[in-house]
Amino acid sequence: MTERGASSTDDPVDRLLATARGDAVEDPFRVTGVMMQYYHVCERELWLASRNLEIDRENVNVVRGTRVDESAYADRGKRNLRFGMISLDLLDDGRVIEIKPSSSLEEPARMQLSYYLWYLDRVAGVEREGVLAHPTERQRESVELSSERVEKVERAIRGIHQVVTADSPPSAEEKPYCESCAYHDLCWC
Ligand code: SF4
Repeated sequence: MTERGASSTDDPVDRLLATARGDAVEDPFRVTGVMMQYYHVCERELWLASRNLEIDRENVNVVRGTRVDESAYADRGKRNLRFGMISLDLLDDGRVIEIKPSSSLEEPARMQLSYYLWYLDRVAGVEREGVLAHPTERQRESVELSSERVEKVERAIRGIHQVVTADSPPSAEEKPYCESCAYHDLCWC
């Protein structure tokens, strides 16, 4: 297990961990895997989603992530585990698997997986390896919770907190996936 660093109680990382452990927290803070992914896809998307603006489930943006996940590995003993703020998929060998839906979303998927590994380590004291898979390209990449990954995850948690507690959303910046984003009309029409 990686070393735990001390930090102030105002630190979003500490608040998240206290919330996850069920401690009495004045201002609980939760981060889901999807929030971690959105943060790395588009901060505006994260902010809009944090305000419970309904996503059209038929939208291809949502489908890009879920359809692949549901269909791939369906017959290979993949099991879903819900644990506190996270819901992840485990392979038979105990590794956590995250499906990379497209090459443009590789880093968001890698950070989502890293967050799951971090959460398991920090909240449950369970060390796990991860595998990032791209079924259509028959590619797999091992992901470990290195100290560099821990730093990136904790930096992202603080960044997510900053985004979701802001009074207004970050301005829209054109991205390759804006056309297929559920919030397209809120940004560009
Ligand atoms: S349409 Fe583009 S800028 Fe707007 S939320 Fe979606 S990805 Fe972000």
